[in-house]
Amino acid sequence: MRKKIVAGNWKMNKLADEAVALTSELVNMANDEVKGDAKVILCPPAIYLTTIKKYIENSPNFSLAAQNCSDKVSGAFTGEISAAMLQSIGVEYVLIGHSERRQYFNETNALLAEKVNTALANGVSPIFCCGESLDQRQNEDFIGFVKNQLTESLFHLSTEQILSVVIAYEPIWAIGTGLTATAEQAQDMHAALRAHLADKYGAAVAEEISILYGGSVTAASAPELFASPDIDGGLVGGASLKSREFTEIIKAR
Ligand code: PGA
Repeated sequence: MRKKIVAGNWKMNKLADEAVALTSELVNMANDEVKGDAKVILCPPAIYLTTIKKYIENSPNFSLAAQNCSDKVSGAFTGEISAAMLQSIGVEYVLIGHSERRQYFNETNALLAEKVNTALANGVSPIFCCGESLDQRQNEDFIGFVKNQLTESLFHLSTEQILSVVIAYEPIWAIGTGLTATAEQAQDMHAALRAHLADKYGAAVAEEISILYGGSVTAASAPELFASPDIDGGLVGGASLKSREFTEIIKAR
């Protein structure tokens, strides 16, 4: 059975005391909801990871993700954070290839393949983000485009490695816009991506890989999205900044 995951991507939001307050509220409200194979992954700004870790210590189904890591191993790369550093403070996951990183920091599929490699080499699981723009959805083979993001950044991995990767499909037109993909649109893409994984790694492996949906997920849209057979949870931005709403999304999982 693949893991059901709700991840909260805080992006560049919250000051230190607000980050602590949000985490404490979430742990209080949501801890009892997250059982068995289910997981909540918090993705705060890197500067808060060590602090937040203390607040989830007694909540075994809560984990941490960094929002990014360097593609380099170590050395003279001012301002960068390596996967080994994340591992050394007990961070289990890292977002790789968020569309904002692709768009504002020019991250390419080839660079993201390097980030995936360094994360896995250090025992940090990538949450690999992919997704098409509105223009691509309207004018191109958008499913082919997203499949190619997986091919170019992930398909060099061994079976054992790909099993450590979580995929997050996030149509760019739905991120932060209030426009959610319909459950049907999301399910169609998730099924296509799972079939693509099955072509490369076999159906049994593809069945084990969690594919999350992201893009304006709210407490209202989560139940229908998460009920779809190939949607294994969500990567939530804006709504993860509000403890009550994020808890409702966790409950929908
Ligand atoms: P959103 O962000 O939920 O605010 O649309 C999702 C994301 O970018 O991960």
